[in-house]
Amino acid sequence: MADFLIIGGGLIGLLTARTLSASGAKVILVERGQLGQESSWAGGGILSPLYPWKYPAAVNELAAWSQVRYRQLIEELEQATGVDAEWTQSGLLILDGDQRKAALAWAPACAATVQPVDASAIQRLEPALPANHPSGLWMPEVAQIRNPLLIQALREDLRLRGVRVAENTEVTHLLSKKERIRGVQTEYSEVMADKVIVACGAWSATLLKELGREVPVMPVRGQMILFRMQPGQLQHIVLWQGHYVIPRRDGRVLVGSTMEDVGFDKKVTDEARDGLIRVACEMVPALADASMERHWAGLRPGSPTGVPFIGAHPKIDDLFINAGHFRNGVVMAPASAQLLTDIVQNQPTIMETSPFALNNCSTAA
Ligand SMILES: Cc1cc2nc3c(=O)[nH]c(=O)nc-3n(C[C@H](O)[C@H](O)[C@H](O)COP(=O)(O)OP(=O)(O)OC[C@H]3O[C@@H](n4cnc5c(N)ncnc54)[C@H](O)[C@@H]3O)c2cc1C
Repeated sequence: MADFLIIGGGLIGLLTARTLSASGAKVILVERGQLGQESSWAGGGILSPLYPWKYPAAVNELAAWSQVRYRQLIEELEQATGVDAEWTQSGLLILDGDQRKAALAWAPACAATVQPVDASAIQRLEPALPANHPSGLWMPEVAQIRNPLLIQALREDLRLRGVRVAENTEVTHLLSKKERIRGVQTEYSEVMADKVIVACGAWSATLLKELGREVPVMPVRGQMILFRMQPGQLQHIVLWQGHYVIPRRDGRVLVGSTMEDVGFDKKVTDEARDGLIRVACEMVPALADASMERHWAGLRPGSPTGVPFIGAHPKIDDLFINAGHFRNGVVMAPASAQLLTDIVQNQPTIMETSPFALNNCSTAA
């Protein structure tokens, strides 16, 4: 029998499995579809919250812990698996001059570099932008990774570590007795484990509901489009009025994203595509001549304040949750995985756990 059974093979489940396995535990990961094909595939891979000063300190704390370790994680994974997830320090150029005061007040406490820039500095940094932005902010330390490649690397890494992965296997129920978890019921069989971790992203509340506790994790649809430019034509991540462009090393440029409350509906819409194309071309006029390669949608695991739930279930012993990472699950994933590992292994934690506790959530039943 496994020490830990993780439900959900997105980045949160994959990294939690890796961290637990590295600590010597025997881990099984159960995924309804293929590993990492939901929000973790759909995301942009920016390793920073957008406008981080707008987020609670707990989000920034998880992000900061991960940021200083991400490069090494990607290098370790490349060494182990041969898959390079393309950690790239592209920097983040924010064109919203009105954010200056809040950003500069936030930066020192988080030891983040945020530099005010004027129109000529914006042009020097990113000649592909139009010359109509009078001021902005430059965050040179912000990096990105290519999340689909990170998923590939983690898949291979878990295989090499001997983690048992069951894909195409939906967990239909959590099995508990006398308020203690015993395992899970999948569509095929019962699977027992000492401890169970729910890392089902936007679907986490569905599974936990039957235990009589509402967990406020809800789907928030995000649509993105992908263009192809020449490599280097655009060099930095650029953010403007809530929209962003992310240049990949091979010249592909992601443009995101929408925020839609439409339940578990992953359909793409013409309206969102047209809106994203319009804003993309306004931000980077050369995109008007670039070919659009793809349009997709993913369901973010939304939570009331963007702070994920990481810790023990308040009613059922040995049941844990690692979910609700909303817009920042890629950047927060390494810290979330380590924090949950610390909690389940009963060892000193990398940070204070109370902001992430499920019973800390005021909207929970
Ligand atoms: C458009 C968009 C852009 C984004 N951009 C960024 C960004 O730039 N930076 C950033 O940090 N974050 C970004 N995010 C957010 C980030 O992608 C998510 O927060 C993160 O991927 C959540 O990971 P997860 O593992 O919790 O969820 P998911 O990746 O959704 O994984 C959950 C998994 O659980 C499985 N599952 C569900 N129910 C069951 C069940 N009953 N049995 C078995 N398996 C089950 C699902 O099939 C799925 O594979 C973005 C998200 C979107 C949609």
